[in-house]
Amino acid sequence: MNLQKYLRSEIQSMAPYKPGEQPGAAKVIKLNTNENPYPPSAKVLEAVREASGRLERYPDPLGTSFRRVAAEVLGVTPDHILCGNGSDDILTILTRGFVSQGDVLRLPFPSYILYRTLAEIQGAKFQEVRFLKDFQLAPEFYAAGDRLKLVFLPNPNSPSGTMIDPEAILRLAHSVDCPVVVDEAYVDFAPRHCVELIAKDPRIMISRTLSKSYGLAGLRFGYLVADPAFVEMLRKVKDSYNTDAISIAAATAAMSDQEWLRANVSKILATRTRLEAGLQNLGFDVIPSQANFVWGTRSDRPVKPLYEALRAQGILVRYMDYTQSATPGCDGWGDGLRISVGTDSEIEALLLILKGILAG
Ligand SMILES: *Cc1c(COP(=O)(O)O)cnc(C)c1O
Repeated sequence: MNLQKYLRSEIQSMAPYKPGEQPGAAKVIKLNTNENPYPPSAKVLEAVREASGRLERYPDPLGTSFRRVAAEVLGVTPDHILCGNGSDDILTILTRGFVSQGDVLRLPFPSYILYRTLAEIQGAKFQEVRFLKDFQLAPEFYAAGDRLKLVFLPNPNSPSGTMIDPEAILRLAHSVDCPVVVDEAYVDFAPRHCVELIAKDPRIMISRTLSKSYGLAGLRFGYLVADPAFVEMLRKVKDSYNTDAISIAAATAAMSDQEWLRANVSKILATRTRLEAGLQNLGFDVIPSQANFVWGTRSDRPVKPLYEALRAQGILVRYMDYTQSATPGCDGWGDGLRISVGTDSEIEALLLILKGILAG
């Protein structure tokens, strides 16, 4: 029986988003999905234990306890915060809220592939605009566009780990007539963030996650920081109970422990420096990263065999191929390895094995 035919045609024709591999085996060194190598704050585990005693009740639909703490940390009001089941949920809510069938969603290239998928599910078009060579925004990124309804800009970007200045993002918001979402999934590892821009141009919105810097990828919690008017509109789009009681409690505890965050980030940044230097020593071209991963490319040999040889030896990194853009007129980029910053000993093991592979 042909069951495909029952599916909406937009979904039939789209390729599924492929998240990085999550191996079952405990022995692999996992540097492929930018998770934190360290467990979360002990206060989070305490909050999870406590919340698990009240599971017969529905959770707070708005995650008020989290919004209060996050507002204090960020210097905004709780009305500026919308909670999500991971920041992927936030990105989904935004796309559903602003982009109709046939509309256009703009994103830079190369960047986070999920944005394409979100546009396709809506039956919308996505427009990839190639980054300049130094990973700054091309003039076309600032251009107004026919049916342009939403811009997604990861900052720091993945896979490059590079950043766009807040000043340029403000200029961008002034020049396109639609909301501009700055995806700050990695911003805790970076020197600057864009929350202050919301007051300067309310069309700027910030998406955040607890998956990376707070070590909570398994929990699923993200949030939006935006003008309260947008937050109120988007509540109509989200599932009523899009974050569960355990996640809200855990995320509130994580956000309350900024001391843990600072200590964790400084460990990761020290290891990042070692990873960058180690890769350069092995002949990789490395752009200085502002995130918890490093993008390594090579002009002297293909990198895919390196990814495969690492994998065979129990080290998972992310091979990314951007040699072709899905948008006509947007030229390809190269391919490379995106390597998450693990613990010092994981990075030492990676560099040692990589050295052996390159010599062999
Ligand atoms: C990891 C990541 C996310 C998703 O984070 P979750 O909160 O785990 O859904 C969003 N944007 C970018 C650019 C990411 O790398």
